[in-house]
Amino acid sequence: MKVFEKAPAKINLMLDVLRKREDGYHEVEMIMTMVDLADRIEMQELPRDTIMISSQAGYIPLDEKNLAFQAARLIKDRYDVKQGVYIHLDKKIPVAAGLAGGSSDAAATLRGLNRLWGLGIPMAELQRLGAELGSDVPFCVTGGTAIARGRGEKLEPIEAPPQCWVVLAKPPINVSTADVYGKLRANAIQHHPSAELVLEAIRLKRFDLLCDRLGNVLEEVTLDLYPEVRRLKECMLRLGADGVLMSGSGPTVFGLVSKEAKVARIYNGLRGFCKDVFAVRLLT
Ligand code: ATP
Repeated sequence: MKVFEKAPAKINLMLDVLRKREDGYHEVEMIMTMVDLADRIEMQELPRDTIMISSQAGYIPLDEKNLAFQAARLIKDRYDVKQGVYIHLDKKIPVAAGLAGGSSDAAATLRGLNRLWGLGIPMAELQRLGAELGSDVPFCVTGGTAIARGRGEKLEPIEAPPQCWVVLAKPPINVSTADVYGKLRANAIQHHPSAELVLEAIRLKRFDLLCDRLGNVLEEVTLDLYPEVRRLKECMLRLGADGVLMSGSGPTVFGLVSKEAKVARIYNGLRGFCKDVFAVRLLT
């Protein structure tokens, strides 16, 4: 038997770091949603007790370092599953981009194997398992739009933002999330975005307010380390995006655009800058 799952990319409409915790993690407040740019995960039952991974993307690990592999092993161990699985990752989401590609693959693997092996694990439990794999995995299990607190695992679903186009551009650099958090001085953040104000804009369905209130404190680190990310933001605004923000720890920058007529101009303008450019809709 075979199952398929879609693993969409996430963007942060707001990302704030409140403090560094004693356990080394950062206490965050994030508003996250998903976009229609997705990896496709195929899972096929194997009679022998083994996990095999393949992908068309040559630049990701295909062993126990792969988050989909880790998700499969976790579910096998926890539920004492004796069958094996062959997992094929058709990667569309750029890697180490701030789009939670690996986390979404892990979440899709948990959902898919739950179906493949008929385990009947409730969503809340899949999210708890996901938290053992990474901070963004619990959100990716359910998707939608949510506010996340704690280290990202305390989730509260919220209503979807107003539908719009999202132009994503990833400059040709790879950014390590751990490195960015490591360089952030949590007690010296210049400007904290407001979750309340972003929530209000969403509640009022005010696209203009949402665009004005986007904010991500990790820009303070990544934009200084990689000036091309700052230039990319400026370029997207100049080309006419209504609101622009770096996603996660970067380097992907996304622009929210309400009018379809503007999308082609922004897309084509950015293609001169970087190879990885996508124009997609929100997954609402
Ligand atoms: P986040 O925003 O959650 O930090 P990201 O989008 O910045 O995620 P990923 O694409 O998840 O980053 O990749 C981060 C690292 O994880 C890469 O170094 C990659 O080698 C490794 N990795 C492990 N499994 C996967 C996977 N299934 N897909 C992509 N990368 C993976």
